[in-house]
Amino acid sequence: MYHSVAAAASPAFRTFVTDPAVFRDHMAALVDAGYAATTVSDHVSGTRTEPGDRGVVLTFDDAFQDFHTTVLPVLADLGLSATLYVPTSYVGRTSRWLQPDGEADRPMMSWSAVAEAAASGVEIGSHSRTHPQLDRLPGDRVRAEVRDSRSLLEDQLQQEVRSFAYPFGYHDGSVKRAVAEAGYLSGCAVRDLLSTTDDPFAISRLTVTHDTDAAALLDLLDRRSGLLDEVRSAARARVSRALRRVGAKRRHAAASWDED
Ligand SMILES: [Zn+2]
Repeated sequence: MYHSVAAAASPAFRTFVTDPAVFRDHMAALVDAGYAATTVSDHVSGTRTEPGDRGVVLTFDDAFQDFHTTVLPVLADLGLSATLYVPTSYVGRTSRWLQPDGEADRPMMSWSAVAEAAASGVEIGSHSRTHPQLDRLPGDRVRAEVRDSRSLLEDQLQQEVRSFAYPFGYHDGSVKRAVAEAGYLSGCAVRDLLSTTDDPFAISRLTVTHDTDAAALLDLLDRRSGLLDEVRSAARARVSRALRRVGAKRRHAAASWDED
C-alpha cells in the first residue's frame, strides 16, 4: 500500500511519502522478480494471473494528484495494474483531512484525472467521502460515507465500484457490515505482515514506508509469502490428519462390516 509518491513532505506525513525515483525502482524490481500485479477486486474474485507468475496487489490510498502525474506513467510503462482508493469529497481540492499532519494543502486528483486512471485499467475504489475514523461515527453517518461515495464514483465513472478501503484502516464489525450492505465486495484494512483471515472485508496490506528501498520491498514480499506458505502447509497438515481420522473410521466401519 502506497499513499503519496512525491519528493517533499511534512515531518509528520513523511513516512507515507515515497520518493519518485525510489518508487520507479520498486516497480522495476517487482517486474524483474517476476511479479504480476492485479487489482484488489480481481484478487478477491480469484481471477488468475498467468501461470508461474508471482502475484502482487498494488494499492494507492487518498488519490493525491501525484498518482496521476507520477505513478500512472510508471504503471503504464511497466504494464502494472493497481487499485486506487478515492475519498470523494476532496476530489479536485486539497487533502484537508491531513491538517493535523501539516499537509492540508497537498493537491488531490481532479475527476478527469480519476477518469483517466480508470480508463487506463486502474481499479477505482472508495475511500469514503471525508476520510473519517469510521469506527467512531454513528451508524447512519457510516452508512452515508460508504454509500454516497460509491454512488458518486459510479455516477462520475459510469462503472461499478466494488472495493472500499477503510480510512486509517479503522473498522469494526458494524463498519464492515455497512460496507457489505452498500454493495462492495471487499474492504481493505492496513497492516499485518500476515493475515490468516479469508474475510474479504478485512484484507490486510503492507504499508510501504518512505525508507523502504527495492531490496527491502522484495524481502517483505518474500517473507510474507514464506509465512503464508507456512500457514498453508499447517492447514494442509490439519486437513490430512482429519482425513486420516475419517479414513480410519471408514476402515474400522468396513472391518466391522466384514466381521458380520
Ligand atoms: Zn487514506
